[in-house]
Amino acid sequence: MTEFSLELNDDQIGIQNWVHGFSEEVIRPVAEEWDEREEFPYPIVKQAAEIGLYGWEFMAEAMTNDPTGLTMPVAIEELFWGDAGIGMAIMGSGLAAAGIFASGTNEQIIEWVPQCYGDAQNLQLGAFCASEPDAGSDVGGYRLSAKYDEAKDEWTLNGTKAWITNGGIADIHVVVAVIDPDLGSKGHASFVIPPNTQGLSQGQKYKKHGIRASHTAEVVLDDVKVSGSCLLGGKEKLDERLARVRAGKKGNAQAAMQTFEATRPAVAAQAIGVARAAYEYSLEYAKERYAFGRPIIKNQSIAFMLADMATEIDAARMLAWRAAWLGKQGEFKNAEGSMAKLKAGRVSVWVTERAIQILGGYGYTREYPVERWHRDAKIHDIFEGTEQIQQLVISRAISGLRIE
Ligand SMILES: Cc1cc2nc3c(=O)[nH]c(=O)nc-3n(C[C@H](O)[C@H](O)[C@H](O)COP(=O)(O)OP(=O)(O)OC[C@H]3O[C@@H](n4cnc5c(N)ncnc54)[C@H](O)[C@@H]3O)c2cc1C
Repeated sequence: MTEFSLELNDDQIGIQNWVHGFSEEVIRPVAEEWDEREEFPYPIVKQAAEIGLYGWEFMAEAMTNDPTGLTMPVAIEELFWGDAGIGMAIMGSGLAAAGIFASGTNEQIIEWVPQCYGDAQNLQLGAFCASEPDAGSDVGGYRLSAKYDEAKDEWTLNGTKAWITNGGIADIHVVVAVIDPDLGSKGHASFVIPPNTQGLSQGQKYKKHGIRASHTAEVVLDDVKVSGSCLLGGKEKLDERLARVRAGKKGNAQAAMQTFEATRPAVAAQAIGVARAAYEYSLEYAKERYAFGRPIIKNQSIAFMLADMATEIDAARMLAWRAAWLGKQGEFKNAEGSMAKLKAGRVSVWVTERAIQILGGYGYTREYPVERWHRDAKIHDIFEGTEQIQQLVISRAISGLRIE
């Protein structure tokens, strides 16, 4: 087992500086513009692909050549320090790739993960479709169905997914579907829907509070037909798993949950990146802004606020790194990932709100970035498991009881 260390190795420091440079030089100058446009920032994602920051190779390299697990959270914090909406546009395809990694066979991973990204000349996107209009936290309430035709070795999917990052504009949609409604969340399976499949379309595009450069939309599946090879993990494995569950034996965690477990430390790192941006900005502002003849930071009430902001950000980062390291060692029991995400989401919302306070009236205007960072921070309390769902997971883990 690799030892846990807060000291980054040379490769990680190199990646940290590289992503920071891209954020500073390419993302920050256009962050406000893309937030106002509320559109997917294709030219910026293309630039990220040109330097290898957007692409399956970067993800594979960061995941396979890093025994510590810290490379991804380090890189993601720098990216989201640049801008969370653009950061999400760059990272969103990774959710689909993570869904394929979590449930797919080696052949499926090799076939579909690169197609979630394409390359700089032919940019492609991935989308992970779990949530539905009537069931977000309640994964057992999903209704989108998948029915199998054995004679044709073909699946037919029907239903609607809601709140999907890159939904409808993606080339690869990974869709969680209900195979056996009687088994609740244990009766699900994940499918890859290949590019240009008939019957898949974008529903409404949401107008959002924050991360507005990231595209979020409904995905409608109307008699979508895919071959048996699109079922992640394959039919034999699915049949075995369903038989185990029907016999009352322990089934594996459902497809959506496996993906979320793997990505929670990364989501915590996103939140920390936003918080750090707001903290650094308000620290500098507090040194330069004069009131009553002195810089406002000379007032303990402002300086102590900044001291608390720095402390909370470091605490959140340590939880995120611990969770990422545990995940890498295969020791991840879910609650550590949930703790990291819970803490980081709250810290991000609190720090960005304090940053507005430190900037006073200016902080409340769109002329300064802190109001955008505050809007961007809030999503981290909501997606990939809300604040309350993280509490549920943690309370079940620490008590061993079925807390409802
Ligand atoms: C910008 C954005 C991007 C997203 N991207 C994706 C994506 O790419 N793929 C995807 O599948 N989904 C995505 N989502 C969906 C997201 O994961 C869900 O919104 C989230 O899981 C919450 O589900 P919900 O919105 O249905 O809220 P609900 O589940 O209806 O929850 C409403 C409130 O009730 C609380 N609550 C619910 N159940 C309990 C309980 N048992 N105990 C205590 N409190 C409870 C919740 O914490 C919340 O406060 C995205 C959402 C947004 C906003």
